[in-house]
Amino acid sequence: MSPAAILRRLAIVHRDFTRAEHIARGLRYAGHLVSLVADEALPGTLESLSTVSPDVVIAVAPLDHPLSVTMAALRARLDRPVPVLGVLRRTEDASLLGPIDDEIVEPVEQAALVRRVNRLLDTWPERARLEREVQALTSLNRMAWAFSLASSPDTLFGQVARQSAEMLRAPKGLALLYHPESREMAGQAPGHGLRPEQVAKVRYAVDDARARWNFRVNGALLSNEARGDLRLIPELVTALGLRSLLAVPIRRGPQVLGVLAVGDRPQPFREPDLQMLEAAAHQASVAVENMQLHDQLKQANLQLQEFDRLKSEFVAMVAHDFRSPLMAIRGFAEVVLEDASIGADSRREFMRTIIGQTDDLARLAADTFLITQIEGAALQYHLTDIEVGSFLWDAVARISAERSSFNLDVPEGFPALRGDPEKLRQVMTNLLTNAIKYSPEGSAIHVRCREREPHTVVIEVEDHGLGIPPDQVGRLFQKFERVRTKEHMKVSGSGLGLYICRLIVEGHGGRIWVESEPGKGSTFKLQLPLAPPVGAEPPAPAAAPEAAAKDGTVSRS
Ligand code: ADP
Repeated sequence: MSPAAILRRLAIVHRDFTRAEHIARGLRYAGHLVSLVADEALPGTLESLSTVSPDVVIAVAPLDHPLSVTMAALRARLDRPVPVLGVLRRTEDASLLGPIDDEIVEPVEQAALVRRVNRLLDTWPERARLEREVQALTSLNRMAWAFSLASSPDTLFGQVARQSAEMLRAPKGLALLYHPESREMAGQAPGHGLRPEQVAKVRYAVDDARARWNFRVNGALLSNEARGDLRLIPELVTALGLRSLLAVPIRRGPQVLGVLAVGDRPQPFREPDLQMLEAAAHQASVAVENMQLHDQLKQANLQLQEFDRLKSEFVAMVAHDFRSPLMAIRGFAEVVLEDASIGADSRREFMRTIIGQTDDLARLAADTFLITQIEGAALQYHLTDIEVGSFLWDAVARISAERSSFNLDVPEGFPALRGDPEKLRQVMTNLLTNAIKYSPEGSAIHVRCREREPHTVVIEVEDHGLGIPPDQVGRLFQKFERVRTKEHMKVSGSGLGLYICRLIVEGHGGRIWVESEPGKGSTFKLQLPLAPPVGAEPPAPAAAPEAAAKDGTVSRS
C-alpha cells in the first residue's frame, strides 16, 4: 500500500476561506483528512497547525505572515519537518510564500492537485531522511573543524558540549572525562546550558555506579524519563535538573575516555538521535586523544627541560666537589716535593691526608657514576630472596668499626626479603657509615628489622649522634643536600649517599625516611617488600647468624 493510500492529515493555510474550501473538497474526496487553518499571527496559526499535526501543509498565496517562520516553529513543535505545497495564482510568484517544496498554479484541477499531494507524501520520507543526513554530516563536519581548532581543554569541551547539543536541538550538553587514576568520571567545564556549579557536581566513581549504568559494558543510554530512571544516578539527575538524557561513551578502541551527553529536549529522543550523538562522540574521541597526546608531549618536554637543568646543575656541583680535594692533594704534594726541611712525621701526615682525599675522590667518582646510571635508568636490579639476618650481619661486618659498637637485632625465623643484594648492601653501607661519621666515638649503633603490613620489612639504623634539625630532614634525600650546622660541616661528605639510598630503595618499590632529634640521634628506616611466600609453603625461615644470642640479638663491638 502506498503511503498516499493511508489516511493522511492535510492542513490548508489560507486567507480566503472560499478558495481554501474549494481546494479541500477534491482532497477530501480522495480520502484525506483536511483541516482549514486561517492565516493569523504566529501563535494562533501554530497552535491550530500543531493540533492538526499535518503530513502536508498546503499554503494558499498570498499570506499575511511569513510562512518560513510558521513552518520552522511547527517543525520544532512536532520534531519533524512538514512538506509545503504552495497554491498560487497565475500572476503570483512562488517567492511570495517563501521556501516551499512544490507548487501548483490556479485554476487548480482536482485530480492534478491530488496527484501532487500524493507525490509529495510518497517522496517526502526519503527527502526528509536525506535532509537529516545532510544536516548531520554538515554538523559533524563543522564539529570536526571546531574540535581540531580548539586550542585548550576548555574550548574543546565547550565546543563538544555546545555543538552536540545544537545538533540534536537539546538545551543542555556536557562532556565527561574518565580519570583512570581515581576511576572517576567527571564533567568538563564549560557545559552547554549548564551553570559551572552544576558541571562541578557531575563526578562519580565508576565502581560505585556499576549497579547503575556502566558505559563501558552497556554502551549508549537513552532516557526520556530521567527522573526515576533506575539506570541513572538520582543526585546527578537532580543537580542537572534533567528531564531526559541521551548519553554515549567516547571510546578509543575498547577503552572508554569519557561520556558525551545531551539532555532536556522538549521532544523525546529517538534511535536516530543516538546514532548522531555516537558520530559526534567519535569526532570528540579523536580530539580528546589528540589533546591528551599533546598534554603528554608537553609534560615530556617539560621533564626533559628539567632533566637537562638538573644535569647541568649536577655537573657543576660534581666539578666543584672534585676541585676541593684535588687542590688539597696538589697543595700537600707540592709541600712534600719542594720543602726538604719538613720532618718525617709531618711528611707521613701529609701523605695520609693525600690518601684520605684520594679516597674521598674515588668515592665521589663512584657515587657520581652510580647516580648517572640510576637516573639514566641503566641500572639493572637482579632480584633474589635475601635472608635478612645474614645480609645485615654481612653489611655490618664490612664496616670498619673502630669508632663504634654495633647491636644487630633480627627476630628468629625472620622471612626473606626480595631485592638486589649488592645494591641493598650499598644502601646499608651508606647508612652505617653515616651513623658512624655523625656520632661521637664509641657510641652504640643499633640495626634491627621488623615485619610490617602489607608484607614488607622495615630495617632501622639507629645512632646516638648529632641528630638532624627538623627543618632540614625533608631535604636530605635530595642530591648534594647536607645538614648545615657547624658540627655536621666538620665531617667530610658529598651529600650524595642518602640520595643514592633513596633511588635504590625506591627502585625496589620501597621507601626510606628518618626520624631524628637534634643532639640525641637519628633512626634511618627503610621499608622493603618481603619475598612472596612460595605456594602454600610458609616463608623460608631466616637462618640465624652464627653469633646470634638466645634472644635473637647479635652483638658486635
Ligand atoms: P654525606 O656524604 O654528606 O654524608 P649523605 O647523603 O649520606 O652525604 O648525607 C646527607 C647529609 O645528611 C649529611 O651530610 C649529614 O649532614 C646528614 N646525615 C646523614 N646521616 C646522618 C646521621 N646518621 N646523623 C646526622 N646527620 C646525618
